[in-house]
Amino acid sequence: MDRKGGCLVCGNELVYSEFAGPPECFYCGNVYDTNTTCIHHHYICDACQSASANDVIERYCIHTSSTELQSLCEFSVLNKECH
Ligand SMILES: [Zn+2]
Ligand SMILES: [Zn+2]
Repeated sequence: MDRKGGCLVCGNELVYSEFAGPPECFYCGNVYDTNTTCIHHHYICDACQSASANDVIERYCIHTSSTELQSLCEFSVLNKECH
């Protein structure tokens, strides 16, 4: 599946907006100086785009406040330590 050109979060088209302000990376939460996000203002930085799925989950876990995701994170960290 070719997802190039679309949002990696929701699949909608990426747009250039001067008005939305610098976006936070959806995964790591860092703010980046770019104007290209999807129509829902999602943004994923280069580092997260090239990171492995596990790395991305860990980054996402660091700043998410969702308890459901926190337990998912603990699970994936535990899993990793077992191997
Ligand atoms: Zn999106
Ligand atoms: Zn990031």
